[in-house]
Amino acid sequence: MYNKNLPGRVGLTPEFEDGVKTFIKWAKGQRRYIDGDKIRFPCRKFKNTKFGTPDEDYFEAPSVPQVLEEPTPTGHIEDVPADATRSRSVDGGPSSYCYGVARTIMMIQGCTKKLVKDLGLPVEKIHACKNGCILYWKDYIDLEYCKFYGDTRYKPSRGRDPHWKKSPYAVLRYLPITPRLQRLYSSRSPAEHMMWRVTHQTKEESMCHPFDAKAWKHFDRMYLDFAEESRNARLGLCTDGFAPHVHVSDDVNPRPSNPKRLIDVYLEPLIEELLQLWHVGVRVYDHALDRAFIMRAALMWTVNDLLTYRMVSEWSTAGVMGCPVYMDDTRAFHLQLGRKACYFDCHRQFLLAHHSYRRNKKAFTKNRIENKVARPSLIGDQILDRVVNISPVIEMPLSLPDGYGSDHKWTKKSIFWDLPYWSTLLIRHNLDVMQIKKNVFDNVFNTVMGIKGKRKDNMNARRDLKIIFNRSELELDERRPNVMPKAEYMLGKEQKRRVCE
Ligand SMILES: [Zn+2]
Repeated sequence: MYNKNLPGRVGLTPEFEDGVKTFIKWAKGQRRYIDGDKIRFPCRKFKNTKFGTPDEDYFEAPSVPQVLEEPTPTGHIEDVPADATRSRSVDGGPSSYCYGVARTIMMIQGCTKKLVKDLGLPVEKIHACKNGCILYWKDYIDLEYCKFYGDTRYKPSRGRDPHWKKSPYAVLRYLPITPRLQRLYSSRSPAEHMMWRVTHQTKEESMCHPFDAKAWKHFDRMYLDFAEESRNARLGLCTDGFAPHVHVSDDVNPRPSNPKRLIDVYLEPLIEELLQLWHVGVRVYDHALDRAFIMRAALMWTVNDLLTYRMVSEWSTAGVMGCPVYMDDTRAFHLQLGRKACYFDCHRQFLLAHHSYRRNKKAFTKNRIENKVARPSLIGDQILDRVVNISPVIEMPLSLPDGYGSDHKWTKKSIFWDLPYWSTLLIRHNLDVMQIKKNVFDNVFNTVMGIKGKRKDNMNARRDLKIIFNRSELELDERRPNVMPKAEYMLGKEQKRRVCE
């Protein structure tokens, strides 16, 4: 049996408080035992049926006769043998265990507030044009009107209020990365994690970290001086949920629309900081090794879903020229009746020259054999050559380059080309597979389940199918044009019921 009280019962032992903390942390992660922000109340009287937040009054209420179960060292009540989980009265008052819980949580909450306050990582507020054309900083810091279209920077004043303070239409809240990178080395544990890859040996032919990949190794070969200092930081820019000037509590401003290609305007401060981190670096104290060094950083790539890919790369991913790698060199086409862009049968060109699929006239596009050999994808310098004469959005924010949509899908010259190493990277943009997997699943699921309005298999699809493919069993019957023949991939009533069980 443990002793939870300090001698003379002047308080609780640190071991007991630590045990409670561990238990609460564990309990909060057990989905079966939580309801919103409440956890199951560990009490024999209510047979663990009640829920409560740990800081609710009744955790402290001495009037509730509580007989409590003792947390095990691992926090698992269910893992403990029946006799060991025997509830017992906690000496020192009926509610002392819950009191301990409540007290601990209050202690944690108090500490957290203070911690967050003390951390104080900087946030820079930079005013922006409400249309997203410019940031009011550097040369434009004193402008009151947008340089391009003359929109006002500030909202109009209300009457003659002497206390009225100028309020901008849009503000970018920028979190500088340099102090955050410095923090990574400011304590031993994260500093050691930053160096994990140096000591880690990956098995041959396997990949467990980006440093096992070609792109990382290529970067190391290109920039030996950077690779030499293993504590230099390699960054990936994830644009998921990017909202440049939204403030959640600001209900006066309408939510800004998607910045689309103008995202480069909001990336300006980041690129400037990345340039500084590449050319000069920053002095960092490494607590794992107890000495300071100059840390540099490089942006290795971005990670996006398909929509933000279109924002950060300079090639639009919409329509039949929507492949940012093969660009206008795909076999994509528009469906005649469905109108949508279709990438069916674009990929036989990647097969080996003698592959039997290349000569298959039935399984792919009707009566077509594939003779084309896919070209190698363009390297960075080749892409840069193509965009070198296109204006970046910070010079020409609101008009697309000539020939957009008909000859090409370039939307801008991306701001990332300002980084001196960007054109040498093997991979510049990555797709977020999680998001794509979900979209693919949704479409396949809605189709096989035959969910009306959401399935991709509809009357127009069957009509298009007749034009392009050899699938006579799926074609509409001329005599019964409104009846869609049932496809083999569609589930029957019983199968659907089993899926939903
Ligand atoms: Zn503007």
